[in-house]
Amino acid sequence: MAEPIKKVTIIGSGPAGYTAAIYAARANLEPVMFTGGPAVEDPARVPGGQLMITTDVENYPGFPEAVTGPELMDRFQKQAERFGTVVHVENVVEVDLSSRPFLVKGETHSCRTQTLIIATGASAKWLDVPGEDRFKNRGVSACATCDGAFFKNQEVLVVGGGDTAMEEALYLSKICSKVTILHRRESLRASKIMQERALQNPRIDFVWNTVVEEVHGDERGMKAVRVKNLKSGEVSSVEAGGLFVAIGHSPTTDLFHGKLEFQANGYIRTKPGSTYTNVPGVFACGDVQDHYYRQAITAAGTGCMAAIDAERWMLEQGE
Ligand code: NDP
Repeated sequence: MAEPIKKVTIIGSGPAGYTAAIYAARANLEPVMFTGGPAVEDPARVPGGQLMITTDVENYPGFPEAVTGPELMDRFQKQAERFGTVVHVENVVEVDLSSRPFLVKGETHSCRTQTLIIATGASAKWLDVPGEDRFKNRGVSACATCDGAFFKNQEVLVVGGGDTAMEEALYLSKICSKVTILHRRESLRASKIMQERALQNPRIDFVWNTVVEEVHGDERGMKAVRVKNLKSGEVSSVEAGGLFVAIGHSPTTDLFHGKLEFQANGYIRTKPGSTYTNVPGVFACGDVQDHYYRQAITAAGTGCMAAIDAERWMLEQGE
C-alpha cells in the first residue's frame, strides 16, 4: 500500500521537535511526529529527549519555581497534540531523502512527506575504556536520575567537569553516602552556580587531573575503577559500586549518514541563521545541529524556526 503523503514530518520529541510541531500544527500543516522509542542498547534514550532524564529545570523561562524535565516535556506534548499533531511513539528505521516526497519509515507507521524536520537531539557520550560496556546497567550509568536509586548509601564516582557532572553529583549526594567527582583537569567547565553547589556539598569530593582507565568487577557488578593521575602518572584503584559517566553528548545522526552534510564535529550542518540543511525541504533543529548552546530554550527556539522555514519553503514551491 502506498504511504500517505504528509506536509511536515518531525523526527524527535525533545523541546525542538515539540516546538516545531506546535508551530506547524497551528499553521494547519497537520504534522506527524515520530518520537523515537526506548533503545535497548541505551535505556536513557526515551521519547522526550534528554530532559526526560533531568531533575529540576531552573532556567526555562516561565517556570520561576523550576519544573522537572519530564513534566516540562509532558506539557510540550500536550500543547503539540492540542493543535492536532499526530504522534507516533516509535523509532524511525529508515529515511529516503533522494527524491520528494521523502520517505520516512517507522517501526510500524511509514509516510511520505513534503518536508522533513530533524530534531533527533543528542545522547550521552561514553568513556570507551575496558570494562565500561560489560558493567553498563550493573554499576556503570550515564543517568543518575534513572539509576541513582540503585546506589542508596553506597560510594559512587562521577566522571566529568561540566554542568551535567555537577548535576549528577548533586542528585547522587542525596542518595549515596559519598560521591567522588573525577575530572581530567584542575578546573571545572561547569557554570559558577553549579560549581559552588558541588564544591560546598559535604558529601561530594573532587579528584583532579584524573582519568578512568578501566572498570573492574565480577558477575554481580562493578567493584572498582583503575584511575591514572595525569600529572604524576600514578595509577591506582578506587573502590566504588557505581560509575556515572557525565562527559558530554554526541548528536543522534545514524539515520542520515551519507544523506545530508555534516559539520566536522558530526553535527548536522545548517545554513547559518536558519534551519535549512543542504537538502531542500529538509530542516534540522535542536541539539542535532547545535553543539554550542545545547539548552532546552535554544532547542525550542530552533524548533520554531524549523516550522516557519518549512512553511515558507513550501509556499515558495507553490505547495
Ligand atoms: P560539557 O561538554 O560542558 O562537559 C563535559 C565534561 O566532560 C568536561 O568537563 C570535559 O572535560 C569532560 N570530558 C569530556 N570527555 C572526556 C573524557 N573522554 N574523559 C574524561 N572527561 C571528559 O558537557 P555537559 O554535558 O556537562 O554540558 C553540556 C551543555 O549542557 C552545557 O552547555 C551545559 O551548560 C548544559 N547543561 C546545563 C545544565 C543546567 O543548567 N542545569 C545541566 C546539564 C547541562 P574538559 O573540561 O577537560 O573538557
